[in-house]
Amino acid sequence: MTETHSLPLIREEIQRPDAGSRPTTTLRSRHSPLAEPRHQIESLEGVSLGHLPSGGNFDTALGADGSEGFTAGQIEIFQINLGKLCNMTCRHCHVDAGPDRWREAMSRETVDACLAALDRTEAHTVDLTGGAPELNPNFRYLVDQCVARGKHVIDRCNLTVLLLQRYSDLPEFFAERKVEVVCSLPHYRRRNTDAQRGDGTFEKSITALERLNESGYGKGDPERILTLVVNPVGALLTGDQCSMEREWKRGLDRNHGISFDRLISLNNMPIARFLEWLEDSGNLEGYMELLVSAFNPATVQGLMCRNTLSVSWDGRIFDCDFNQMLELESRCLGDQPVRIEGFDPLPAMGRKIVTGRHCFGCTAGAGSSCGGAIHDTSD
Ligand code: SF4
Ligand code: SF4
Repeated sequence: MTETHSLPLIREEIQRPDAGSRPTTTLRSRHSPLAEPRHQIESLEGVSLGHLPSGGNFDTALGADGSEGFTAGQIEIFQINLGKLCNMTCRHCHVDAGPDRWREAMSRETVDACLAALDRTEAHTVDLTGGAPELNPNFRYLVDQCVARGKHVIDRCNLTVLLLQRYSDLPEFFAERKVEVVCSLPHYRRRNTDAQRGDGTFEKSITALERLNESGYGKGDPERILTLVVNPVGALLTGDQCSMEREWKRGLDRNHGISFDRLISLNNMPIARFLEWLEDSGNLEGYMELLVSAFNPATVQGLMCRNTLSVSWDGRIFDCDFNQMLELESRCLGDQPVRIEGFDPLPAMGRKIVTGRHCFGCTAGAGSSCGGAIHDTSD
């Protein structure tokens, strides 16, 4: 199908009152100081953590090699962030995405530069994220180009976008192309989901999941994988992934007749709107202490920055999506940031990964990666 949706038409649809639930507004629209990544970094650095073993320094926590030994390997996952536009404004969003972020959308030229760079790597998977990546007018073109190259494509989907009129055919579009759909659903109970993502989100998410099930997703077919992503609601570490998967499967099946293939549980990253909530609720110090105290060295080898390249909507390169949101650009060529047009996978392999205090969000407890828990701590 040819992509015919232009950004003005998309804006019109997602800004209608019934398009998505808006429990808050973006930091950017409120001119909050935290809209600036440097203020987020300052806020994290300002937390007093000197009494903890690593002193709250991620490189110290990494051990004797520190950041010198914290390097990236071969690129297996090519992650493309198509922009910050979203039909929702969830309270925990680490992107500060929302309906007002329509200017930050990847152009066709940058999409083509990503494809050219992808061809120079051995990456087997292309991970599409946003905002709501589906809202980018180049989304379907990009999916088709990646599928034509034999790549496994992941779409990180907020579910409610599938109920917007222009996107209602996406479940079939995905099924035809064997796209893995990775969906956010904080809880299988209405109250917890709506608390994080806005009133009415749960109902819409259930309807979207029913449509995905009708298109063959979530029924054990390896070509129609439906994955749910769960974040804790509050300043807590995520629970045990395996037992949550069992509980979610039972709950969604019993209450709504919905099935899915796997569940991944992630810690909330202390950046953007979740950072704002931590500050406003007086939880920032306690949450950072929790993350730092729960540092688990067994997670380090499996962190996503070790096999992922993350490209921003404007063509800059990062070690992961979180660094992207903090504008900590990847150092593929020493201290020189590189754009996707000039990307060379050789120097990128072995590059030193850029770190900060937010990294403790990935290494706490069982760890958090784009594939979920890194280290099974259930036994
Ligand atoms: S968390 Fe996801 S769905 Fe919610 S505002 Fe952010 S990008 Fe959109
Ligand atoms: S935030 Fe996580 S994935 Fe990103 S560089 Fe730090 S440890 Fe790696």
